[in-house]
Amino acid sequence: MKRKKCIIIGSGLGGLSCGVILAINGYDVTVLEQHSRIGGCLQCFSRGGARFETGMHFIGSALPGQTLDRLMRYLRLDDIRLSRLDPKAYDIVAFGSDRYRFANGREPFIEQMADYFPHEKDNIARYFDIIESVAQGSSLHSLRYADNDLMLDAHYQTISIDAVLDSLFTDQRLKDVLVGNLPLYAAEKGKTPFSQHAFIMDFYNQSAFRIAGGSDSIAESLAATIRRHGGEVRVGCQVSNIECDAEKATGVTTDKGEFLAADIVITAIHPKRVMEMLDTKMIRPAFKKRMMNLKNTTAGFSLYLKFKKDRVDYLNSNFYSFNSGSPWGCESYTDANWPKGYLYMHFCDSDAPRHASSGVILSYMNIRDVERWKDLPLGRRGDDYEEFKRRKAETLLDAVEKDFPGFRDGVETYYTATPLTYVDYTGTPDGSMYGVAKDITLGSACRVPQRTKVPNLLLTGQNINSHGMLGVIVGSIVTCSELFTSKTIYQQITDIDR
Ligand SMILES: Cc1cc2nc3c(=O)[nH]c(=O)nc-3n(C[C@H](O)[C@H](O)[C@H](O)COP(=O)(O)OP(=O)(O)OC[C@H]3O[C@@H](n4cnc5c(N)ncnc54)[C@H](O)[C@@H]3O)c2cc1C
Repeated sequence: MKRKKCIIIGSGLGGLSCGVILAINGYDVTVLEQHSRIGGCLQCFSRGGARFETGMHFIGSALPGQTLDRLMRYLRLDDIRLSRLDPKAYDIVAFGSDRYRFANGREPFIEQMADYFPHEKDNIARYFDIIESVAQGSSLHSLRYADNDLMLDAHYQTISIDAVLDSLFTDQRLKDVLVGNLPLYAAEKGKTPFSQHAFIMDFYNQSAFRIAGGSDSIAESLAATIRRHGGEVRVGCQVSNIECDAEKATGVTTDKGEFLAADIVITAIHPKRVMEMLDTKMIRPAFKKRMMNLKNTTAGFSLYLKFKKDRVDYLNSNFYSFNSGSPWGCESYTDANWPKGYLYMHFCDSDAPRHASSGVILSYMNIRDVERWKDLPLGRRGDDYEEFKRRKAETLLDAVEKDFPGFRDGVETYYTATPLTYVDYTGTPDGSMYGVAKDITLGSACRVPQRTKVPNLLLTGQNINSHGMLGVIVGSIVTCSELFTSKTIYQQITDIDR
């Protein structure tokens, strides 16, 4: 029987994981990537002998039998080398000199938090129960097949993180500590649903790992599996149009004018970009307008650090610091009080490093800060852009120096990425870190569906379900379920477990 031809636009985690699921299920897959390298946010780069990850620094739930471990084995990612973060302190949240450690596992997490906040011990246990029940209540996150694939308790999708924390705790510092890793999902007070917080907390609380050697190994491995199953991953192939006849998509046209016919087209890029590629009456103007105007999460500024040889001890924890006293509101800042918070991490270039050779400091940055350079070509944005980046880098270095006295002495050199860099490398509007923002005040208006009115055009990637390693892979399952049911996929995942 002739295999169905499926074209996937974008080779980030969404495009490649979707490609693997389809390829192992007999589809003829071609992934098209606009850049010369695959991976999107999974990409790494090397400078001066050091390696840097750009958008996937650590992952969770990867101990044998945990959710991501099962998904990685299903996606044939058994060859990825993981290095476990400190189970007693995978995340450290700092407010000035006060440090709070997150421990893996239910009892260790509750005990450690209760050491800091003994008067809230019972409430911490209640909080943990809610986190677990929200995450496990979702068939998508627990990988248990349910007929409707919906979360059993939708309440936590419609109530904000801060509202739930306010209902559980009286201690304001504890509430702030529990959202200390908020930069991982760029949550906003009164807007981001508690379910988003619960999924991330559960994901990393089960276990947390860095990817030894770099996140691009995930992209390479997924692409190799697609090729092994007869598929293709093409680079330097920017899609400019999705072609449709009166009833369906017929294929795509690239920027070089090449037409590639397809039975199914899957986009793994931002929905706004998808709408710009379509010219068909099947897409209603109201839907198009909604997709074009979706609100995105904030963008970021990344400062990549190359350390002097054997000078900096490897930090086996992620370090979040907030000089404004709270993780909330760091996306609203002035030039004078930026950065209100930052996340500092080391890269893991071998299985058990003693010293770090490179690291990154991440902080929020709005596109408006760099908008005046947006029409200038990459790499040639001028001296004032370079000066802007240098100034921001020095400010961030000063912030980390306050938390780690002597830190600057270990830095040999640094490189930077602004929101414009992310626009260039991923095509995400405004350089948004995590794509479309979940916002309870907008209701379903911020939801991006995996299917469209064009019957053979599907959407996937971080905007469908959620961002991140787990959110995007789960989104790929949701998208592929449109072609051969989620029950089949759950069964295949279970078969791999055996
Ligand atoms: C700074 C940062 C740090 C992060 N850290 C973590 C982390 O530690 N852990 C975690 O789990 N998640 C992390 N994330 C989130 C995670 O990286 C993303 O959610 C995920 O990788 C997104 O995958 P995607 O496939 O949806 O999109 P992308 O990775 O953005 O891929 C989209 C791809 O499509 C290509 N493309 C776009 N337009 C076209 C076109 N017209 N034709 C062809 N190709 C096109 C792009 O070039 C790109 O390769 C981080 C994100 C950022 C930005």
